Amino acid sequence: MMTSKSNHLKPFHKLLKSLERQPNLPVEVTRSAAQAAESLTQLTALLAEGEEQSRLVALYRVSSMLGGSLNLDEVLNQVMDAVIELTRAERGFLVLITPETGDLVLRVARNFVGESLSEESMQVSRTVIDTVIRTGQGIVTTNAQEDPRFSRQESVIAFALRSILCAPLRSRGNVIGAVFVDNRVQTGLFAEADLSMLNAFASQAAVTIENARLYTQTDQTLAARVEELEILSQIDRELNRELELEHLVALTLDWAKRGTQATGGWIALYERDGTTLARVSASDPGLFLAPTEPVVRQTLANGAPTAFAPDPANALPARLAVPLQTANPLGLLVVERPDEFSESASKFLGRLASRAASALENARLFQAVQDANQAKSKFVSVVSHELRLPMTSIKGYTDLLLQGIVGPINDSQKNFLDVIRNNVERMRILVSDLSDISRIETGRLRLENAAVPMFGLVEQVVKSLHPKIQEREQTLEIDVPQDLPYCYVDPNRVIQVLTNLVSNAWKYTPNGGQITVRAWVQDRYVYVEVKDNGLGIGAEDQRKIFTQFFRSEDEKVREQTGWGLGLNVTKNLVELMGGEIGFTSTLGEGSTFWFTVPIAETA
Ligand code: ADP
Repeated sequence: MMTSKSNHLKPFHKLLKSLERQPNLPVEVTRSAAQAAESLTQLTALLAEGEEQSRLVALYRVSSMLGGSLNLDEVLNQVMDAVIELTRAERGFLVLITPETGDLVLRVARNFVGESLSEESMQVSRTVIDTVIRTGQGIVTTNAQEDPRFSRQESVIAFALRSILCAPLRSRGNVIGAVFVDNRVQTGLFAEADLSMLNAFASQAAVTIENARLYTQTDQTLAARVEELEILSQIDRELNRELELEHLVALTLDWAKRGTQATGGWIALYERDGTTLARVSASDPGLFLAPTEPVVRQTLANGAPTAFAPDPANALPARLAVPLQTANPLGLLVVERPDEFSESASKFLGRLASRAASALENARLFQAVQDANQAKSKFVSVVSHELRLPMTSIKGYTDLLLQGIVGPINDSQKNFLDVIRNNVERMRILVSDLSDISRIETGRLRLENAAVPMFGLVEQVVKSLHPKIQEREQTLEIDVPQDLPYCYVDPNRVIQVLTNLVSNAWKYTPNGGQITVRAWVQDRYVYVEVKDNGLGIGAEDQRKIFTQFFRSEDEKVREQTGWGLGLNVTKNLVELMGGEIGFTSTLGEGSTFWFTVPIAETA
């Protein structure tokens, strides 16, 4: 309490002055009284100066303690402690105005045990605070009961005989709150000087509080935003990993419920016709929604997250709905809970919806492509099956005719029959490749893997193709060790792979060229390489080499029969057996194709 000590000297001063004016006293006495009064005046001045100085020192000391922290709660506690110390008040509290609502909130209190701002006993302090905040002027009062400003308050009785000090907290021209302290009158009275000191301190404290408040706000907003971004990026990762429409719907709904604290929800997507909206979420799939249903109509018209208040009369919970749309409308996402959704839930749902929409669109396209592929595979498998029988019969009868079993044939008949046989063989290869592809694509291709000696397989292929190679006067070099380990493969499929590579080398190498087949062991795999010094493959073509139906535009390639399916099937087979395939090639110089197969663990 900083009640002026010089005030205590006032009665003596009065006494001396009255002595001085007493006419019937000895002149020595009145003179001495005058001198004493003079000295007392000087002493009072000196004391006042000293008090002013010590006030400034105290103010400087507590002010310098501020600003060390940017944590709002810490700052508020520091300010409250400083105010109590500075005013030597019995008790005090600090209120801040909530910027959004204008409400007064009690932030810190000292020695107000168990009292809250709304309670009866706080009515006087509440009136004082309101006045200070409204006028922006501090208040000092020695006795609330006698003070005309508060004497009509009923609760002043409960507050009787208190000396009050209250100063506004003003930052950048705005009152942001107030500090309030009080004392019982017996303990000490506050003076105007105390108010001016509190005012001085409060204006510094207010700036510090405002800074901490802004910092804390920014910090919290930033932290919340960072957290949301982290969640959204996790959502992005999960959504983009999923191409299965049903899983994606479940995942989106799960995130929507979690992110909005919803208790339930559903997703409806447009059917293929683009106008019928049907629920696809697991709870009640296939339920069609009328376009006139309010949640559908309003949300789609809004084109943004739309909140629906709970409707107890119709047993409807609070709902938050958002359209799912990319360039095209895809559907609707709705979450539900008993009480209304927050503003931030609505924002979150909007962000989630835009992410989910593009993932859903991708999944739909993927599914459409998959469906088309399935249909194609099914068609191919039916056709190839149906072709096999007539082809076998054509081939069988042609062979019988060629063998002269049904009577002798002349040279031109033989030539015709050869043409038929060659074409049937071409068709057989095509049908077999197509049927393999359809089985690979639908996952129906079954391998009959076993531990097989690799040398035998290479030998078998080379033997069967040798006559063709000789016909073209090509040189065939074989560099395959007899003791190659056993490999865990489907032997017929390895033969198919090797046949394709050696046939290609043969087809795309001019007469008199060189073909080399090598094999060796490396890192638990057998490597097989087929090298030729034929046409080679241009850089542009190399990128498409394993794709279905790819054939080079080169005239010399086109002279050879083929469908451009062999390498695609070959690559799939090698990979299904757990190996790899690759090639190197230079246009005009030749190509080297290689593949690997795993060595049988048990061999
Ligand atoms: P096809 O031989 O029936 O055309 P493939 O899938 O076996 O089908 O081969 C695809 C294409 O790759 C060939 O048409 C050819 O352009 C190129 N190719 C394959 N092997 C070789 C090779 N050894 N030399 C040059 N080009 C090749």
